[in-house]
Amino acid sequence: MSTEVALRLSGNFIGGEWLPAASGRTFEDRNPTDHDDLVGIFPESGREDVEVAVAAARGAYPGWRDTPAPRRAEILYAAGAILTRDKEELARLMTREMGKVLAEARGDVQEAIDMAFLAAGEGRRLFGFTTPSELPNKFAMCVRQPIGVCALVTPWNFPMAIPAWKSMAALIAGNTIVIKPATDTPASVVALGRVFEEAELPAGVFNVVIGSGSEVGDPLVTHNDVKVVSFTGSTDVGRRISSACAPTFKRLHLEMGGKNAILILEDADVDLAVEGAVWGAFGTTGQRCTASSRLLVHEDIVGEFTEKLVARARTLQVGNGLEPGVQVGPLVSERQRETVARYVEIGMREGATLLCGGEKLTEGELSRGWFFAPTVFGDATPEMRISREEIFGPVTTVIPIGSFEEGVKVANSVEYGLSGSVYTRDVERAFRAMRDFETGIFYVNSSTIGAEVHLPFGGIKNTGNGHREAGIAGIEVFTEWKSIYVDFSGRLQRAQIDTHESAD
Ligand code: NAP
Ligand code: MG
Repeated sequence: MSTEVALRLSGNFIGGEWLPAASGRTFEDRNPTDHDDLVGIFPESGREDVEVAVAAARGAYPGWRDTPAPRRAEILYAAGAILTRDKEELARLMTREMGKVLAEARGDVQEAIDMAFLAAGEGRRLFGFTTPSELPNKFAMCVRQPIGVCALVTPWNFPMAIPAWKSMAALIAGNTIVIKPATDTPASVVALGRVFEEAELPAGVFNVVIGSGSEVGDPLVTHNDVKVVSFTGSTDVGRRISSACAPTFKRLHLEMGGKNAILILEDADVDLAVEGAVWGAFGTTGQRCTASSRLLVHEDIVGEFTEKLVARARTLQVGNGLEPGVQVGPLVSERQRETVARYVEIGMREGATLLCGGEKLTEGELSRGWFFAPTVFGDATPEMRISREEIFGPVTTVIPIGSFEEGVKVANSVEYGLSGSVYTRDVERAFRAMRDFETGIFYVNSSTIGAEVHLPFGGIKNTGNGHREAGIAGIEVFTEWKSIYVDFSGRLQRAQIDTHESAD
């Protein structure tokens, strides 16, 4: 079925069927590049739909749990092949829905493909371990077990990659899923549902309920039959979900905001650092949790660096991400663009120097979308709000620093701890930065963005709550350890006692 048709028919995906919301209500999903372009019409669901979906996932759980993992893997391999076949169509749809430029949308779908194959490979591993027992004729081992129904709540900035990271890991481990995509980008998750349907995932194993955070997200994450919640989004919402889940001790995985720093030392290759800063700050229009929103530049080179950065930022081509040559798309929504505009005002009031951009782009074709000029602030101090708060738009801030030590201190002075990077040719300082940055991800001589799917992804401090996704670490979120002892001595053996009983 073509994506066009799929979208026209799209509803919630529950128990293997595409259903309208119980309320019968719908909402429009529009292209942020061009308001006149209606991407799709989606159900505006609520608690009732959540109930049905959770029941479907619960019903499908025993069968899926007991399906051998290598068989589960075959379905994920099939899903990966379908995603590969449809990559271009899915990427184009994503650009229309979310605005990121086509090359990046292809990358987003590619992450889903990579995750499908990575998770499928785990179907023949899912390793636990065996270990000696302290007693004779006794065997000890540790196995992974699935947990049950998982609620996945995802953001709009990686419309397919993040849902895929979470769902592929949950599925290979033997769990069933109800996913609530961001209201701004339901189409990519609907497409993922279609992919699983074609791959013949059993009905009810993967369910999609579309609707708002309050009407669908909240009843879903607090549902008694939901055993795992995996959320990616803002720190504010993450904190709310954390409190809501605490009374029932649900397994909770949170990936939240970032305020990522690149530390550029006086011995850095300045041109390379400028390239990294431009990509990290303006890629995905700055709407990445790993965006390079702080540039901590040694004062010896800050003049040269800033001049080159501003020159590059000015040449970036902003426009429709489907057009060749365009490097920066729109913000995802009017609200997001208003947030960015507000932060530019805050930066100016705080006394930072606006070096370029700082305004909405409304000329010609751009008037139909939520465009904003790539923006650079200079002469900022670490205390300013633009240096501490996540803006989530095409705005970056240059903060001059006097030494490596000061740079690390400033880098670590924010509440977030997702990604960081250092540009230097000095191996000793590179290693010290690797050790001392308070982040879950770190790069040397590269930007703060560019995670690969087989490594753990996530952050510390107010970015995360101790879990990681993707990589093998992603499996941890969706499995419980069970320790199993088998005594074949034929008599009662008492651990810790019989091994240390004195002879008399
Ligand atoms: P958001 O507003 O927190 O929304 C994230 C998801 O949570 C959406 O699906 C949203 O639904 C839902 N939600 C909202 N309120 C809820 C509630 N009370 N209960 C349950 N669910 C609720 O974040 P966003 O604006 O979509 O995404 C941007 C944020 O995500 C940034 O802070 C960014 O740093 C973070 N992010 C982090 C990572 C990471 O891995 N650390 C990766 C990507 C993005 P609606 O769409 O209906 O509001
Ligand atoms: Mg939209």
